[in-house]
Amino acid sequence: MKSQKAQKVVNVIARYFMKRNGHVVYAVRSSNGVDTYCTTIINGKATGCTCPATKPCYHMIQLEAKEAARKDLVAAESELVAEAKKTAYLNCYDDMAAAKVASIEAVREQTREEHEQEDRAYRMAQIEQAMASRKVDGLGYRHEWYPRTSL
Ligand SMILES: [Zn+2]
Repeated sequence: MKSQKAQKVVNVIARYFMKRNGHVVYAVRSSNGVDTYCTTIINGKATGCTCPATKPCYHMIQLEAKEAARKDLVAAESELVAEAKKTAYLNCYDDMAAAKVASIEAVREQTREEHEQEDRAYRMAQIEQAMASRKVDGLGYRHEWYPRTSL
């Protein structure tokens, strides 16, 4: 059979975190629903309670457990935050990598094939230009080769 103590559930009014020293003070409603007690938790250990019950009282026992669970939750949360940060960082890194690949592609030296192809195209263009500018008569002779004379 469960004891009377175990059946009581601590009724938290407020939780105060003392930034100055990291201590936690819980304001709790007494089981009679009238009085207010303060339970102090230092470094995760319940060190005292203002209620008149024999120590450790159920406030101390339950709040110490509650605080431990809270710490686990905070740890899990910060782990999630760290994970999210890592993911964000990796995504960022990937974006950078993509940009890097693009810039590398932009400045990448031509391959031999590309160089030859371009060279060939350049020479073809030169030949085409020369053919286009060349004045060739019906017999295939250039006029400038046989300048007209007054004779
Ligand atoms: Zn107490």
